[in-house]
Amino acid sequence: MSGTYAIETTGLSKAYGRVLAVDSVSLQVVPGEIYGFVGLNGAGKTTTIRALLGMIRPTAGSVGMLGHTVTPGARGPWHRVGHLVEKPAAYPELTVRENLEIARRLHAVSSAHAVSRVVERMGLTSEADRRAGVLSTGNLQRLALARALLHEPELLILDEPANGLDPAGVVEIRQLLVALARDQGVTVFMSSHILPEVGRLATRVGIIHKGRLLEEFDARRLEEVQALRLEVETRDLRAAAAVLTDAGYAVSWQSGEGKIVLREPRAVNAPDEVATLLVNKGTAPMRLAIVHEDLEGHFLRLTGGSQ
Ligand code: ATP
Repeated sequence: MSGTYAIETTGLSKAYGRVLAVDSVSLQVVPGEIYGFVGLNGAGKTTTIRALLGMIRPTAGSVGMLGHTVTPGARGPWHRVGHLVEKPAAYPELTVRENLEIARRLHAVSSAHAVSRVVERMGLTSEADRRAGVLSTGNLQRLALARALLHEPELLILDEPANGLDPAGVVEIRQLLVALARDQGVTVFMSSHILPEVGRLATRVGIIHKGRLLEEFDARRLEEVQALRLEVETRDLRAAAAVLTDAGYAVSWQSGEGKIVLREPRAVNAPDEVATLLVNKGTAPMRLAIVHEDLEGHFLRLTGGSQ
């Protein structure tokens, strides 16, 4: 194992009976990067993260982290790692602050301000003296994140950190993670099932599908993958498709889909021209939308249509 990586797995596999939940995954996470680990439900993200954290015994392969070899029960670099995995749990009768006090003692964090600092950082100030048992799902998730950050780890391993958060919360967490990486050099390994969401903050993305690491890409390639497309809905798709084709657009549409899809920059960058053209030719659009290719769409291409 090389000490230069924050995380390094080699041929990591985990079988549950006949299900190979993780299949020979070899990945490296460089210090300071935000690595987005993306896959559909059941792809093997949580199983991989459990193996990273020594919570399960791999069937084969190895995990290295911050210069240590991770095995269940062995001493690891855990005081330097913050994690969020599984459903966030808290002592329901204790307040947010009391829950975090327990975590502070467990991590032997001496600063008495550590708790108020993460409470503020996670936007939990108004909830600090409420019992954890009455928190909303989103605030429970914030509490779990606060616990992961409490001891100022240099490596964060987060399983679906945006789970349960409202859109504003998702943006806040994104900004927080970006700031931690940028300002404090924290390395982030996070899983998600939403490629465009991860694409906004990750410096590298790995795509896991049926337990296998299918593809990895850097920020530049990520932008290409998340190609935009313009979707057009009209009452008469056939007529509108003819109008657009006559005007030189490359049109793809299937009557079953109920919309026309244009992928060229010429269309995506100037939807107003497409709309004007359609209106002038008597096939006015009912809806015009610029859409990111979603993860599922990307997977369908990547896996040749098989799920
Ligand atoms: P999700 O987003 O739905 O949590 P995931 O990508 O995290 O998905 P995993 O939870 O790692 O996926 O599951 C991968 C595969 O392994 C699935 O087929 C799952 O049913 C199976 N699996 C996971 N844990 C166990 C277990 N303890 N026993 C048996 N099968 C398991």
